[in-house]
Formats: sequence, C-alpha cells, structure tokens
Amino acid sequence: MKVKTRKVKKSRIDEVDFDHLKFGEMFSDHMFRMDYTDGKWLEPEIVPFGPIEVLPSLSTLHYGQTVFEGLKAFRSRDGGINIFRPDKHAERMMHSCERVCIPQVGKDIFVDAVEELVRLDQAWVPSARGTALYIRPLALAMESYIGVRVAESYSFFIMTSPVAAYFKEGLNPVKLMTSGEFVRSCPGGLGEAKTAANYAASLFPAYDANRRGYAQVIWLDALEGKYVDEVGTMNICFVKDDTLITPSLEGTILPGITRDSVLQLARHWGMKVEERRISIDEVMASIKDGSMTEAFGTGTAAVISPIGEIYHKGETAIINDGRIGPVSQKLYDTITGIQYGEIPDPFGWIHTV
Ligand SMILES: *Cc1c(COP(=O)(O)O)cnc(C)c1O
Repeated sequence: MKVKTRKVKKSRIDEVDFDHLKFGEMFSDHMFRMDYTDGKWLEPEIVPFGPIEVLPSLSTLHYGQTVFEGLKAFRSRDGGINIFRPDKHAERMMHSCERVCIPQVGKDIFVDAVEELVRLDQAWVPSARGTALYIRPLALAMESYIGVRVAESYSFFIMTSPVAAYFKEGLNPVKLMTSGEFVRSCPGGLGEAKTAANYAASLFPAYDANRRGYAQVIWLDALEGKYVDEVGTMNICFVKDDTLITPSLEGTILPGITRDSVLQLARHWGMKVEERRISIDEVMASIKDGSMTEAFGTGTAAVISPIGEIYHKGETAIINDGRIGPVSQKLYDTITGIQYGEIPDPFGWIHTV
C-alpha cells in the first residue's frame, strides 16, 4: 500500500515522561487517516496527529455509528518491535463495521496501515517491561446530518499512545460485583461489536460499582440475569477442577483476542477447556466448595486481571484467598513473554516491524 505521508516539523517526543506514562493521554506524532465518499475509500495518508474539524450536527455524535479497536506494539528484547495479532484485530473490526453499516476498510489495509504508522513513530514504543504502544483504530460516520440513517461518508483513523504497565507491582486481584439491575448487551443487540453504544451502557453501572468499593462489574445475561457474560471491558475465565471455563460466544459477548490466545495456550498445554454458559450460582457455589480455584479477566490492556473477590446478591466469595493462582500467572507470563520476544511464538501471533 502506498501511503502519502506528511511528517511533523518537530517531534513532540521530548515532552513525554516515559517513566510516568498514563493511559491514553499522550499520542504519538502521527495518525493514519482514510476517508470514504461516493461509495469508495480514498487515498490513505499519514498526517500529524491533531484536531479534526466537525460540525455539532455530525451524525456519529448523536447516533453512535462508530467502531474501534485496541491492540499493542511491544519493544522486543532484541530492540525490534512486535505487534500482537493485528490480523485478528483487523478481522474483528470488519465484523464490528458490518454490524453498524460502516463500509469495511479491508483487512490488509488495516494491517498495513498499523505497521506503517508504528514504523514511522517507532521511537514512541517504550522499552520498559510492561509498557507498550497502544494502537487505537477508529472508524466513524463523517456526515453532518441529524436524521437517523446509514451515513454516506466515513473516516478511518489510527492513533497510537505510549502506555505504562497495567499493574505496577505484580498482578493484583480485584474485587467485583454483579451488575444487578443493569445489562451491557442483550441477544440480538450490539454486544459482539466494539462499538460506542456498549460503553455508554456500561458507564453508569461501573460508576455505581466503584462508588460501592468494587473495581468492576460482572455482567450477567440480559434475559435471565443468570449467566456470566463478561467483566467490565474484559472477557472472563474460570479454573474449576483444573478445567478452564469461559462463556461461549453467543452474540452478547465481545470475542476477545486475549480470550482466544488464552484458549489456544490452554489447549496447547493439554488443559481441559470448556466454552459454555456458566451461571453465577455455579460460580459462587464452586468458589465456596473449593472446586473453583481461579477467576480472571482477559483483555489487551491488562492481558490477565486476576479476580480476588465476587459480590453477588448479598453474598461474598473470596477466590484463592485473594491471591493470583498458578494458571493465571502462567498465562500472563507466557503471553507477555511472547509479546516481548522473550520466548518463542509457536502460534504466529507476532508481526515484527
Ligand atoms: C475489547 C474488549 C474485550 C477484550 O478484547 P481483547 O481483544 O482481548 O482486547 C472484552 N470485552 C469488551 C467489552 C471489550 O470491549
């Protein structure tokens, strides 16, 4: 792919305090942009990261015809740069686009654009273990019109942001509560697309849980409030009787790429794996009878986020004395080891730049 590139006159990289990175506040020098009008995607370009001019009547701001992705580039041990599973993220973005009627940019263009942008801003990939360059692709309707309809013009952006290690001192188990009266998504809804509406739906319940002293919400299914869907903006996994269990993908759950990596690894290790519905009653009971020994969230940001405590309808269950378990630790060590080029990648997950 030929990308017209307009570089910054002066890099802002000197303004970055790489020892005190915050999530998602600082963006690298350049961004990728491609516009869609008259039924086709136009010339891609890389331009200085900066404001875009839109009118308050921009349809996306009203009706949310927009999707995004989140992936990372890592500084590998040999000094090179490893992007983790960009092809899988491309594929998922195409599915998200389809669900909200955004014309697909194409998988190859997505992957090439990510690689091209990271190559140009490679100085922004931090080098401390645990840090990364977070990559945020975004597609949105770019039409000034406030009728509800599928738009005719769109833009596809990719921006990147250097981020700190998610956990400062080891993996810290979190306290969670079930979502009670709220749901994140429902059958036939948008749950499996990475689209804005899902996050709008999650804000109040998450705020409410924080206020009660819990880090995140465990989302239960919308129909019966019985089965576990996800945790916060992560997928959820359990270890029960040495079997790895995760809710099956039935349309209400975001198909996480970390989830997929965890399942592949567990199978590779010969562990028993079950993708099935799991009820919150089963979770609470099997934590209490000792058969469920670990629970954790999976996502690009944290990779593995161990769960130490779950509150559900007046009851609290403590998992593994609130400490991280061996499967969670091994998954974390292996996935991050592959990401940082410290151990071999037998799955072809890494794209080097
Ligand atoms: C992005 C996301 C995940 C995790 O997906 P990864 O590909 O593993 O980062 C899980 N749930 C929700 C709701 C998400 O938005």
